[in-house]
Amino acid sequence: MKNQWPVTSVQVLKEIYAIYDEAMEPIQGVCQKKCSSCCTCNVTLTSLETGFLMAAMSLPEKKVLQDRLMDHFPSKRYLPKMTTNRFARLCREGKEIPEEENDPAWGKCPLLVDDLCSIYDVRPFGCRALMSQVSCRQKGYAQVPPIVLTLNNLFLQYIEHMDQTGLFGNLSDMVTLFLSDTPLHHLSDYCRQTRDERFLLNEKISVLVVPPEHRETVRPVLEKLSCLV
Ligand code: SF4
Ligand code: SF4
Repeated sequence: MKNQWPVTSVQVLKEIYAIYDEAMEPIQGVCQKKCSSCCTCNVTLTSLETGFLMAAMSLPEKKVLQDRLMDHFPSKRYLPKMTTNRFARLCREGKEIPEEENDPAWGKCPLLVDDLCSIYDVRPFGCRALMSQVSCRQKGYAQVPPIVLTLNNLFLQYIEHMDQTGLFGNLSDMVTLFLSDTPLHHLSDYCRQTRDERFLLNEKISVLVVPPEHRETVRPVLEKLSCLV
């Protein structure tokens, strides 16, 4: 990788993760170490989150990551057709929402090693946001309180907003792109020029998706997030 992601953006993302951890503190889940049914090859993230995890890695660690992706690259994986902010905008404009295909049966995340995340401390928000109040393995589904769904969406919107000149895509594709020689300050140009459908252009927030019954609860979180962007 030729460039580093701007230190200020990485620092702000760290602060966003800290605000999320604080907001989630009172919410009890049953998630445990080595419980990894939710670690599928369908995780998505922004270029900012990809930069965050790359910035924390040494060259030898990046080489290990590259080898791992080469050996375990998922041929079938979720390729998003819209970003979170685009989805919110399309809903507000009453436009058609593209159909998406996403199946956990397509396989495990290539960065999962012996049921542990190999990049745990710098994992993307999509992974931090996964929680359940019942054992997914036993029940076959996750039970997520509605307030967590609202918070997750809010944080996804702010992270994308923070990275509004960047890209969004599947974890395997984004990390592979970052490990290549594509100059990071030209990511959007790369996406426009190549029309590579694996990557989407991020958008700024045009409307926040917060159900009326959660507006009071999320107000303090929103105030903290607004100070950062
Ligand atoms: S979300 Fe489900 S699979 Fe993932 S750690 Fe929690 S209980 Fe386990
Ligand atoms: S990056 Fe880590 S936490 Fe996220 S899905 Fe992969 S193994 Fe799980």
